[in-house]
Amino acid sequence: MRAYLPDYELKAPATLAEALSLLAEAPTVWQPFAGGTDLMVLLEAGKLAHQRFISLWHLPELRGINVTDEYITLGALTTYTQVQTQAVLQAEFPLLGEAASLTGSIAIQNRGTLGGNIANASPAADSLPALLVYEADLELVSTQGARWVAYRDFHTGYKTTVLRPDELIRAIRLPRATAGWRQHSRKVGTRKAQAISKVCFAGMALLDADTLKDIRLAYGSVAPVPVRAAQTEAALRGRALDAAAIEDACAALVTELKPIDDIRSTAGYRAQVASNLLQDFLSQLR
Ligand SMILES: Cc1cc2nc3c(=O)[nH]c(=O)nc-3n(C[C@H](O)[C@H](O)[C@H](O)COP(=O)(O)OP(=O)(O)OC[C@H]3O[C@@H](n4cnc5c(N)ncnc54)[C@H](O)[C@@H]3O)c2cc1C
Repeated sequence: MRAYLPDYELKAPATLAEALSLLAEAPTVWQPFAGGTDLMVLLEAGKLAHQRFISLWHLPELRGINVTDEYITLGALTTYTQVQTQAVLQAEFPLLGEAASLTGSIAIQNRGTLGGNIANASPAADSLPALLVYEADLELVSTQGARWVAYRDFHTGYKTTVLRPDELIRAIRLPRATAGWRQHSRKVGTRKAQAISKVCFAGMALLDADTLKDIRLAYGSVAPVPVRAAQTEAALRGRALDAAAIEDACAALVTELKPIDDIRSTAGYRAQVASNLLQDFLSQLR
């Protein structure tokens, strides 16, 4: 292991326009640097192709929370600590706060950002299943202008995304349509704290008496990208929430989810845990 940092250059522009100009001039040279909690590990390990970084930390345009009747919009620099302390998120989007509270340590939560977690695009990242079930949108900005992409379309493969090298994530937008939905999340790792997920899960369900009017299920750490379990959702939608529905849902999940083997866990273990988490969620709804 290295015990020193390699040479690097860090520029700290005062405005978003300045940061975007730097990126536009040489997109493959400069790398955005938010909280640095992912980047510093790679830098110290000598695993980064880049040595020139643009600090986003002081950009006001990437901070703050905007609340309208339809949406909550969070700046990409919103930290895990801030996610946990926003009353509107606690009330309407509790799965994000739950994921934030289980991310790293307090130090990581003070510095790590939601935008960094998304852009880093690890399939094991804890806040991503919540963003999938909340049907979040991302605002991507460059000198060319801004564009919105649905978060479900953001990942294109393992650690690859639709984000261009000249673009930044500016904001994460959550539609405020969670009233009446029951919400649940779980993280399964080797330890209770400071653990990378073996499986992480987020679920939301809308019930009419004992009938599942609608349901959304998402998993992290089981595939090259975070995934919605669309076939399992379809097997449950409109069904009475009885033992047969739960059994059918688990069968659909086995067909749909093709978990990965990696250094943290086996595919078989992940498949079993994913099924257990689904059963747990559905049983709690009854
Ligand atoms: C000890 C430790 C424990 C951790 N535990 C967890 C955990 O439990 N769960 C978990 O999910 N993660 C964990 N992480 C990973 C990390 O903390 C998170 O992924 C964090 O959200 C990264 O945010 P950041 O602001 O620090 O990103 P950075 O390190 O600054 O950047 C990460 C990547 O995102 C890019 N980037 C950042 N912001 C933007 C933006 N606005 N637009 C475009 N690109 C951007 C950077 O260029 C880089 O590629 C842990 C890390 C450490 C070191």
